[in-house]
Amino acid sequence: MNLIRRYCLRSVTALLLLASAGCYTNPVTGRQYAVLTSVGEEQQLGAQAFAEVKKTEKISRDPAVNARVQQVGKRIAAAVGNQLSGAQWEFVVFESPELNAFALPGGKVGVYTGLMELLDVDDELASVIGHEVGHVVARHGGKRMTEATLVGLVGAAGAIAVDRKYGSQKSELFLLAYGGLSTVGYVLPHSRGDESEADLMGLQYAAAAGYDPAAAVRVWQKMAQAAGMRKMPVWLSTHPSKSQRIAALREAAPRFHALYLANRQRYE
Ligand SMILES: [Zn+2]
Repeated sequence: MNLIRRYCLRSVTALLLLASAGCYTNPVTGRQYAVLTSVGEEQQLGAQAFAEVKKTEKISRDPAVNARVQQVGKRIAAAVGNQLSGAQWEFVVFESPELNAFALPGGKVGVYTGLMELLDVDDELASVIGHEVGHVVARHGGKRMTEATLVGLVGAAGAIAVDRKYGSQKSELFLLAYGGLSTVGYVLPHSRGDESEADLMGLQYAAAAGYDPAAAVRVWQKMAQAAGMRKMPVWLSTHPSKSQRIAALREAAPRFHALYLANRQRYE
């Protein structure tokens, strides 16, 4: 009896905390969702995790590949402007045949050389970086941590975890939500809604940075093709791809064409 009562009290406390939690409005899409973590916390945790990745993965020293990623990254970050206050953008190329890219909260983006080989022109690279930057600005990492908390509420153990979450255990929960950031599991599976949102944001950022948003369609077509030729690309498996998605991008890209034309000259 006593235990049940204690559990109920914990649940009520947790729900009250959730009810008073910050609701984040995506600066590009206007979508609203609860994010319990602060931007500062996300930045700190993202930076920690990225430092870990840089220690365990081989960083590419190829000057040409690095120059491409730095240039495109800089332009995309400029297109974001101050949408995410305090963002510290960092773009790193990792040496790996994987067709993969990822983003961590606060502004850390990693791209693998395997994926780079597939991206013939910078417009295509811009769609990948734009998508990943979209996840960061959308604070999908914080959103996922919040969702993990909600799932945790289902059980008594979860309620205790929620109690802890508001103590000093935030980073622990963060790592849990990310499926073990310190190992190879830092590539997050995202929900379909988050993916579509990042796709749209990616189109807008690419266009505002003077890159052709239509290139996003080509990237996904190439990814789908590559999946048939070599081992399943990680980016494809963590970013659920469907012909539906290619169709959605094909439909949305023209809406950003004028923005692209307006910004293209700035970089010519
Ligand atoms: Zn994604």
